Amino acid sequence: MKYIAKSQWALPNILDKLERGADGIEIQLLNPDTEECLKLDYKIPEEFKILPIKCIHLPLNAQTDCNYDIETPIGQRAFIKSIILAEKLIDKTGSKMNIVCHMTQDIKTMNELEILDKTYEFIATQAMLHPNCNINIENVTRRTMGIYDNAVFARSLNLPNIGTVIDTCHSMISEFITGQITEYGKTSNEYYKFVTIEDAFKENKDICRWIHLNNANMDGGFYGKGKGHGVPFDINNKEDIEKLTKILKLYKTLDFKAPLCLEVREDNYLHSENFSKTRRACEEVFKNIGEY
Ligand SMILES: [Zn+2]
Repeated sequence: MKYIAKSQWALPNILDKLERGADGIEIQLLNPDTEECLKLDYKIPEEFKILPIKCIHLPLNAQTDCNYDIETPIGQRAFIKSIILAEKLIDKTGSKMNIVCHMTQDIKTMNELEILDKTYEFIATQAMLHPNCNINIENVTRRTMGIYDNAVFARSLNLPNIGTVIDTCHSMISEFITGQITEYGKTSNEYYKFVTIEDAFKENKDICRWIHLNNANMDGGFYGKGKGHGVPFDINNKEDIEKLTKILKLYKTLDFKAPLCLEVREDNYLHSENFSKTRRACEEVFKNIGEY
């Protein structure tokens, strides 16, 4: 099994992940208003050209996440900058570069806001303009029935280089929230249904091209919030191992081919201990369920 690590666009951070055995890197671009993103002048530093960069994540603003996603003009501008950068990082092997972009609205809301057709058109155009990139659409946590609309969205376009991302932390939050609302499936509600991590894998089967593997807990005061978002899996924690076993069994039995990117927060991004911890936990679980 190969493990991808996520890193900022900064050489020392990337090197720390590679020294810890990462097999590839997903670059997280930050807020498009910040200096970092403005620096994206399409000149790639020489040392970056030999790094195993496999994926570029659209710029993300942690405070106002929703403002920078594919449905908005600023999100689309950031998308264009990111995909041009991504193309320049394609290595000599010629394997496609992955792009991760968030979708923050569900299809019903986009339709109501009259942005659905424009968003479809934007993504389809970008996919055709950049055939060497896979555009992978990530869901964010939704409470409505459109929880896996990223899969519906990508399937509707039916283009070979448009796929989805499963984020296991987002999926576990969805399971938690919809579980509470529906008493874990016992009551039905016109607007909500109970969706599980298993649903995430089934809904995205065959169209998922990238997986953000991470955990969620209550450390931020609510399940999956703040510090409880994107947490590592700890081999010494029984509950973590149970959750990870369930996820990796789904991955294996449903025959997923998408790379596993360990998208975990760190106390210090120059010492990515949580990446190493999560990788160890994965290796241990694969030892138990059989290598894949
Ligand atoms: Zn993610």
